[in-house]
Amino acid sequence: MSSIFSSKSTGKHSRSGVLVTRAGKVLTPTFMPDGTRGAVKSLTPEQVESTGVQVVLANTYHLHLAPGEDTVAALGGLHAFANRKGPMLTDSGGFQVFSLAKIRTITEEGVTFKDPKTGDMVFLSPEISIQIQMKLGADMIVAFDDVTALDDKGRDRTLEAFERTHRWLERSLAEYERLTKDMKQSDKPILFGVVQGGLDKELRKKSLEIVQSLPVGGIAIGGLSVGETRAEMHEMLEYLAGHYDDSPRPRFLLGVGDPIDVRKGIEYGIDMFDCVLPTRNARHGTAWVAGDKKIHITNERFTEDTEVIDPGCDCYACAKGFSKGFLRHQFKVGEPLAGTLVSIHNIRYLERLCEESRAAF
Ligand SMILES: [Zn+2]
Repeated sequence: MSSIFSSKSTGKHSRSGVLVTRAGKVLTPTFMPDGTRGAVKSLTPEQVESTGVQVVLANTYHLHLAPGEDTVAALGGLHAFANRKGPMLTDSGGFQVFSLAKIRTITEEGVTFKDPKTGDMVFLSPEISIQIQMKLGADMIVAFDDVTALDDKGRDRTLEAFERTHRWLERSLAEYERLTKDMKQSDKPILFGVVQGGLDKELRKKSLEIVQSLPVGGIAIGGLSVGETRAEMHEMLEYLAGHYDDSPRPRFLLGVGDPIDVRKGIEYGIDMFDCVLPTRNARHGTAWVAGDKKIHITNERFTEDTEVIDPGCDCYACAKGFSKGFLRHQFKVGEPLAGTLVSIHNIRYLERLCEESRAAF
């Protein structure tokens, strides 16, 4: 799985690269917004494209529960379903299972949980997660892991999840190889293995070594941005930066999307980021402006403000001159256009940050 990614160094650990997926090239570093249920909330595909987004992420957990991967496949697969030609990535479903679902049992085989809407019992395993993702038809997929930091910070549980994550990775990889064995190399989706280990540096280092020793197409860093302090997260990213091998594989930091953390991630050699933060913040009236500061557009001080969100921004909302006063009013009366415009701005903010960190290829 070499040569799908090539990169140039842009600093001590930072780099800029080109990732070749079956749906097209991706320049890195890059930020990927979450199209949780197949669509980036409140945005049309054209609006998403306008921000410079190259990859849209969709959630396996949500799509499995509704409408189900068989329905998505019947509608032509994820790209036709979401009306998107460019690269798409699905996560493994693990993070949502452990954070949103009421888990009944975790066994070596997999996880049984209750569908929050229907009350039905649902079972996910490494094999089933890969099968779902293959059926959905994403260009990049993620191995199913045992996400620990959310339910228990004790070392015994961390260790158990750590060891299981690697056994599950081998099973994910075996299922991936079984399902892709008749595909041309260039038609195969790229499989990311997930590094876990909580905030324990020794475990993290071992986990990274194990994931890097396997023939996965990309290295994902999981289990961060789950309640630890910002300083702890940055310290772990710095630590990991010193332990990546030289293999030409992209590094994906799962679930991190605050500009301050994205900058640190890039500094410490991360190539890809995803998060619901820019669109979730936007729907609540929070926008990022120069200097990675946050402003709350619903604040009364913006009532008669004629300025755009950020005069230095080239997003649709700022370039077209939508004033903070106008946006505040739309938020106040519950008009969804405000959330759409600020979503465009926030995603563009992160894409500009990534673009500024890229070298020319
Ligand atoms: Zn803007």
